[in-house]
Amino acid sequence: MHETNPLLNWELYPDFPSIGAEHVAVAMQEVIAQSSAELLALEQAAPRTWHGLLAPLERLTDRVSRAWGLATHLHNVKNSPAMRKVYAQSQPLVVEFYNRLGQSRPVYDALIALRESPQFESSSHALRRTITLLIRDATLQGVGLSPEKRERFNAMSQQLAELSTRFTNNVLDATQAYALTLTEKDQVAGLPEDSLRLAANMARTRGQAEATAEGGPWCVTLDLPSFLSFMQHASRRDLREEVYRAYITRAASGERDNLPLIRSILELRRELAALLGYENFAAVSLERKMAPGVDGIEGLLRTIQDAATDPALNDLIDLGDLARTHGQAEDIAPWDVMYWAERLREQRFGLRDELIRPYFPLPAILKGLFDLVEDLFEVRIETRPGVPVWHPDVSYCTVKNREGVEIAGLYLDPYARPEEKRGGAWMDELCGRSTVCAPSGRPVRLPVAYVNCNQRPAMDDAPSLMSFQEVTTLFHEFGHALQHMLTTVDHGFVAGISNVEWDAVELASQFMENWCYHPGTLSGLARHYQTGEPMDDGLLRKLLEARTFRAGSNALRQVCFALTDLALHTADPDGLDPTETAQRIAREILPLPPLPEDRFLCSFSHIFAGGYAAGYYSYKWAEVLSADAFGAFEEAGLEDPACRRKTGQRFRDTVLALGGSRHPMEIFRLFRGREPDPHALLRQEGLLPENKEN
Ligand SMILES: [Zn+2]
Repeated sequence: MHETNPLLNWELYPDFPSIGAEHVAVAMQEVIAQSSAELLALEQAAPRTWHGLLAPLERLTDRVSRAWGLATHLHNVKNSPAMRKVYAQSQPLVVEFYNRLGQSRPVYDALIALRESPQFESSSHALRRTITLLIRDATLQGVGLSPEKRERFNAMSQQLAELSTRFTNNVLDATQAYALTLTEKDQVAGLPEDSLRLAANMARTRGQAEATAEGGPWCVTLDLPSFLSFMQHASRRDLREEVYRAYITRAASGERDNLPLIRSILELRRELAALLGYENFAAVSLERKMAPGVDGIEGLLRTIQDAATDPALNDLIDLGDLARTHGQAEDIAPWDVMYWAERLREQRFGLRDELIRPYFPLPAILKGLFDLVEDLFEVRIETRPGVPVWHPDVSYCTVKNREGVEIAGLYLDPYARPEEKRGGAWMDELCGRSTVCAPSGRPVRLPVAYVNCNQRPAMDDAPSLMSFQEVTTLFHEFGHALQHMLTTVDHGFVAGISNVEWDAVELASQFMENWCYHPGTLSGLARHYQTGEPMDDGLLRKLLEARTFRAGSNALRQVCFALTDLALHTADPDGLDPTETAQRIAREILPLPPLPEDRFLCSFSHIFAGGYAAGYYSYKWAEVLSADAFGAFEEAGLEDPACRRKTGQRFRDTVLALGGSRHPMEIFRLFRGREPDPHALLRQEGLLPENKEN
């Protein structure tokens, strides 16, 4: 079977064109059966040496993750009803396999024995960390519990998963249930062409077959694109208020009320934490994070709050002034903020899409990105034709080191294909660096990354032209890929991006984004695709300045969410009123407090249905790391090529090379010589007093 299934039968490159949906379920059954049998044998033998235990463990884990990773990738880029079906079919098997692996008591005992053996201290960082992390994960999966407690633990995990799904479904259903149908032209005054088209399209999908962008009817819904474009552009204040009120009370009443679910989720998480021996759920969550503890995080958030409060107040005053000069007599209300902020943005920057895109043709941006990476990290990136791909637009590149030795590979899938490819941009891996999983006759398996974007395809005589945000996104995803590809770690569990802490993993990606805001790099990138002319200074300056537009307001909003998340996951759920807690924190922090009836918690899926429980702060945490890392380049001298390269090599040899093999704080210290300092971020966002004036 193995020999004939193209999803499994490959060593260096999968033969993408020959893999179909029909291969997924059989492949997953086969690898899970094989790995489960090996796990059983390993449990019976329970070897107490690293080679006896960790090598087979890596091999059997990798077999499943490699096959499932490939299936997931195809599910993302070559979706079809058949693919969706087999994927959903196989998913429970995969989850079950990982649960069984994570809760294996014999493996856990063997890991503990390894940690306590005299050899542990003299092992490499990567091995020690592998053992430590495997023990940590098993502990957090309840492996150390007595059988009764483990049963309760599993039941609670199951219950929590169900509650999360119900939470998500309630948000989706509540979002779906609302639609404001508008029939008069004056009701959609202010909406630009594409918003009108979207609104007419919404009306058509809701049964108004005759709807057109010009003549209506138009439908406004609570889906983010529809909601945002209405809040930003609709000049009818009363209608903005109506839509806004619907938005902030989503999933907050009747059958779809998420508040009881929130209470249950918080109680279950608290009980789960207690069962594992922790004071609260935040402590459980932070076990898998870089941040040292709740106090340290709160300290950071308060520093940001202090710096952002005055600028945010000024933002609000600006909006009030603008509204008044345009004849709005009333004070700024929550439903005015997005509208006037958008007017102010237009007035200040006027960065219309069609002015920007011609300066960012994809092929030239890619070349600029590769040049930058080659210069900073002493590598060569070359296209290699002939490697099988899943679509003719996809290309494969190899990465070589200074000596010309191949060290990694990269698939680049640049264009949107709405019929089969998911939206957005993302990075993923085909496989990671590993000696245990080396192909036959080679000492090590090289890491291979995917970078997927959703650019407009090239059309007629024009190449794909990118918005500035798409450029920064490409740099972002490429940063993830670099950390995966430039790893020097040979142990699969901790090589590349594997097992990098959640709140540290955006360091490399956001670090790369910073280059888009470096005037020298940006002016080199921005060239007109027809004339080759550089972008004029005025436009360039506006692109750079727009980065700090409303930075204070945005920072306060994030701080408010993060502190609410921490408060809910540290408090005793008995007597806790989640809504009141959220309201109290918002009133304390935001210059424009929420309405008393605001129930944003009821749609705060990040922390109740996503992976961000007691982790929402990660956004800010990672921004601090990346800004401070970029600060090292600024201090060394961004305009001096030799200094840049020297700092680049240090970044490569620490953050990019060591990945998950050491604690991220240790790696950061190796690179920066000290712990992260939030001031670099405040400076970057224009929130320090010295640049408040301009
Ligand atoms: Zn990212």
